[in-house]
Amino acid sequence: MIGRAMPEPRTLPIPAIDPLEFPTGLVWLIGAGPGDPSLLTLQGAQALSLADTIVHDSLIDERLLDWRRDDAEIIFAGKRGGRPSPKQVDISLQLIELSKQGRRVARLKGGDPFVFGRGGEEALTLVRAGIPVRVTPGVTAGIAGLAYAGIPLTHREVNQSVTFITGHDHSGDTPGAIDWPMLAKGSQVIIMYMAIKNLRQITDSLLAGGRHEREPVTIICNATFSNQQVLETTLARAADEIEAYRLETPAVICVGATGLLRLAIDWKSALDGKPIRHINPLDSEARSLWGGLG
Ligand code: SAH
Repeated sequence: MIGRAMPEPRTLPIPAIDPLEFPTGLVWLIGAGPGDPSLLTLQGAQALSLADTIVHDSLIDERLLDWRRDDAEIIFAGKRGGRPSPKQVDISLQLIELSKQGRRVARLKGGDPFVFGRGGEEALTLVRAGIPVRVTPGVTAGIAGLAYAGIPLTHREVNQSVTFITGHDHSGDTPGAIDWPMLAKGSQVIIMYMAIKNLRQITDSLLAGGRHEREPVTIICNATFSNQQVLETTLARAADEIEAYRLETPAVICVGATGLLRLAIDWKSALDGKPIRHINPLDSEARSLWGGLG
């Protein structure tokens, strides 16, 4: 294989795959994927290319907007540069207004619109207002981040279940509705969104609930972007280490032994030229190699 010329990628006109209807007045919630713009779905790209107006959040790679029509209107509805973010209700009202003006509205949201992204709230408000809605799922950060860190979300010998949690609720505190002792006891692998700020409190709760101090924790920052960083740590050390390394958000955090598979499968570092660690990551000795920033 080495030395052979790169093949030309085949380009297909997307409508040839699945021609989609985008009626006027429809609001189309589209998952943008986690970061790398090539992780947008084909359906999402096609919807963007048909929209009259695209309303998007922060955390969206601007290159995704290249899918727009030349005359499309772009509206930014997120937080940027410390300015206050528009309230959720204002965004929903704006979507209703645009729909009533007879526009085809693409509502582009990071990751998957229905995973910790308030897509449900927007959809509910729209449906209640009698506005037609369509939803295109996206690649969510909690799954993509693990894949890009070389960690299978499930692995037969390690875990048969996964729990997704958010690290804060609307008040900014750790979600009171989560039963932490039960989570600690019953969840084999825990994937956390928006958990950096409250990480110490979360790891303390998990330790108090009986999780092992040396349980592997993987923190994936800027997942799938070119500046992705991955910290291998443990439940006892995680909160101190994110402060010490001044890790950047956005970040997803994986608590669980499945992280150890990264020791062998860290394909991204391998492509970047780092040596592959030829070990069985599930051997007890492999754990001694766990730790550090990559
Ligand atoms: N709907 C989104 C999540 C929105 S909540 C999705 O499905 O991915 C925002 C949180 O998502 C961030 O605080 C972070 O925990 C996570 N996140 C989003 N993009 C990320 C990225 N590129 N890398 C790491 N975490 C990310």
